[in-house]
Amino acid sequence: MTPDERRAALDAVATEVRDCRRCRLAGGRTQAVPGEGDPETEVVLVGEGPGQNEDLQGRPFVGAAGGFLGELLSVIGWRREEVFITNVVKCRPPGNRDPEPDEIAACAPFLRRQLEILDPALVVTLGRYSMNTFLPGARIGQAHGTDHPAPPETGARDARVCAMYHPAAAFRQGGLRQTMKVDMLAVPAALARSRRERAERSAGAAPVSVPERGWEAG
Ligand code: SF4
Repeated sequence: MTPDERRAALDAVATEVRDCRRCRLAGGRTQAVPGEGDPETEVVLVGEGPGQNEDLQGRPFVGAAGGFLGELLSVIGWRREEVFITNVVKCRPPGNRDPEPDEIAACAPFLRRQLEILDPALVVTLGRYSMNTFLPGARIGQAHGTDHPAPPETGARDARVCAMYHPAAAFRQGGLRQTMKVDMLAVPAALARSRRERAERSAGAAPVSVPERGWEAG
């Protein structure tokens, strides 16, 4: 896919998201939030759902949690413009409640298509709903800061998944700020590992990894 084709494909998904009424979240939104970022990136960040500011602006992670996300990215010298940022559900759950399983299921095809188009080397999950999309059964308290092969059926056909807490969790639990910075420091190594695996697979030197299940322990 050329860069222009990739951008057009992402725009087509975004247009469908903005018109979507597949689940009850359509009824309470100001506008849907498809996601944004560099179409040529190797890294996709996946949060849970838009909050109030995101719902008003139509952009992901623009409130306080977005500010902290930018701070976290700066720890490793990255900027949000260099990655792609989206959410598991594209419309704001009322009162910022957690997304319901049927809402996540209804919205899943959009995330899957975005990942198929972007073909990232690394997916960083922000929060447990995002994590469980890629690492079913994982517990955030154990899985944060670790990385694993992405199940290809998620749309990330040749990627590793790095699990992190949601940035908003740091506002409820101040001690998580430092934990998240430490977890972020592990992200470049996960990306390097994934690049190496992708290169090996494209050279036919190694079989596709079977997803590890170590995060389910305990
Ligand atoms: S959350 Fe997803 S499935 Fe539900 S209305 Fe919004 S775009 Fe559609």
